[in-house]
Amino acid sequence: MSLWLSGIGVSRGIAIGRVQKLHGGDLEIPEYTLAEENVGAEVTRFFAAQQRAREQLRQVRAQIPDGAPGEIAAFIDTHLLMLDDRSLGEAVVTLIRTNRINAEAALKRQRDSLIAVFEQMEDAYLRSRKDDVQHVSARILRILLKQERSLPAPAEDAAAAEPNIIVADDITPADIILLAQQGVAAFITEYGGPLSHTAILARSYSIPAIVGLHGARRLLRDGEAVIVDGDLGHALADPDEQALAFFRSKRAGQLARRAALSGLRHKPAISRDGIKIKLLANIELSEDAAHAAELGAEGVGLYRTEFLYMNRQGNADSLPTEDEQYEAYARVVSSVKGPITIRTLDLGADKQVDSGSRLGPTPNNPALGLRAIRLCLKEPDLFRAQVRALLRASAHGDVQIMLPMISSVAEFRQATAFIAATREQLIGEGRKMAAQVPVGAMIEVPAAALAAPWLAQYASFFSIGTNDLIQYTLAIDRVDDEVNYLYDPLHPAVLQLIRMTIEAGDHAKISVAMCGEMAGDPRYTRLLLGLGLTEFSMHPASVLEVKRIIIESDIGVLRQQARKLLASGDAGVVSELMREFGSGV
Ligand code: PEP
Ligand code: MG
Repeated sequence: MSLWLSGIGVSRGIAIGRVQKLHGGDLEIPEYTLAEENVGAEVTRFFAAQQRAREQLRQVRAQIPDGAPGEIAAFIDTHLLMLDDRSLGEAVVTLIRTNRINAEAALKRQRDSLIAVFEQMEDAYLRSRKDDVQHVSARILRILLKQERSLPAPAEDAAAAEPNIIVADDITPADIILLAQQGVAAFITEYGGPLSHTAILARSYSIPAIVGLHGARRLLRDGEAVIVDGDLGHALADPDEQALAFFRSKRAGQLARRAALSGLRHKPAISRDGIKIKLLANIELSEDAAHAAELGAEGVGLYRTEFLYMNRQGNADSLPTEDEQYEAYARVVSSVKGPITIRTLDLGADKQVDSGSRLGPTPNNPALGLRAIRLCLKEPDLFRAQVRALLRASAHGDVQIMLPMISSVAEFRQATAFIAATREQLIGEGRKMAAQVPVGAMIEVPAAALAAPWLAQYASFFSIGTNDLIQYTLAIDRVDDEVNYLYDPLHPAVLQLIRMTIEAGDHAKISVAMCGEMAGDPRYTRLLLGLGLTEFSMHPASVLEVKRIIIESDIGVLRQQARKLLASGDAGVVSELMREFGSGV
């Protein structure tokens, strides 16, 4: 009998296949006392398991195809770093020696105490890093217990076999990489949310996925037919012929649309009524730039530079030097055809650094604390190194500098004065730079949107960061699951702030882009076009879908509809009017 199950759809698309459970989710971990003379051998056994885990991860890393999004390798690098960390190495050895217990038990104790520390963290992003601790320790534990998880072997005749739909408690990034290469059709996990590794990697590989489907391993049987709807987060087990026919046709429509989209790669994004829209990419790693261009982005609208500060391989207590940053920026700038907007450091709140201890303790309310431009202005040495590196990198391409979390004209002017003084210094040293490096403001604090007419007199451009603008306008922590339901891009207050920013930019004749998630969500493309947005920056995977909607839109008509929508202060009416817009997806 058919059975509908619901979880959270985190990677879009329809998949039809057979359930393949990943077994051995829960490990039984024995604890026993060692004779004194066996302690040395136990430590050696632990080191050997750690080494084997390292080799396994390196092998997975080597299998990542060239040109894959950089975030995929970054997950494995994080796990490799964690494997080498004292907290999972020396600390476990000390527990084995001092308590004379077996390696599995020592590792379990250490894992549990690390997880307890992560769980107490205020910040949801850091809290979610406990998954890394789980995954890395589970890998070593499985080796120690000789219960390594064997992934399903690819079918002998892959073309004839029905594709596998993987059902598991949770899946490590390494397993996702291997399974993706085997051509699995979808993932269903019991745990995880939209920010989990499974979610991010499934999106990177464009594999439909549902997470948080509690009881999935109990409710679904190995080998049973199942349909996964990653758009809605539904799974249908043992579907009847009617359901199969419906989803086959929905899937065929999606595949046809995807194929048609790839034909748009080299087409400009011009609306039916002839308005040219700029489509740019958000990137975090230098490797992402090439991938973005392949997917039709005309340049980079947001290069987040925190990554350089966050995953410092084997160097967790240091900050990147000016030269190290210059080399990284120059590499990205040279690889991007078109403009590249580089954002200065946005540390704090959801983006903490390993070397965070050097930048002070985490405050009680980090999102409202010393983050982003505030931190940079307070720590001139930190800021100077980055600004010098950015200005030097401008010699290699079309660079713009973007300042995050600007909340007042005075703050923006203080930062631009600092950049101008740094430029003078570099000129004095005879360094090469572009003649002009525009400096713009991110509009992500409501005060900046309200002050946009005045800010526009000093900024060379604006870029609306809706992720934070929504968080601060609606007083909702953007990574707190408990209040996620209130996070609403269509809230009339948010729409007013977006409108005010675009109007202020237009009036001052400076460009206004949007680089928050809203810009890459096809459900909002028509609305944003109607609000007068002409530059969209987004995850590269969304560029073609957004381009299709633009090409099919008449912006003149959308502007009239947007005026009606803005006139309503009622969220219910807004969502009603959104239907008139037609989401385009
Ligand atoms: C934003 O706030 O919308 C944004 C793009 O920046 P981040 O998500 O990095 O804070
Ligand atoms: Mg932001």
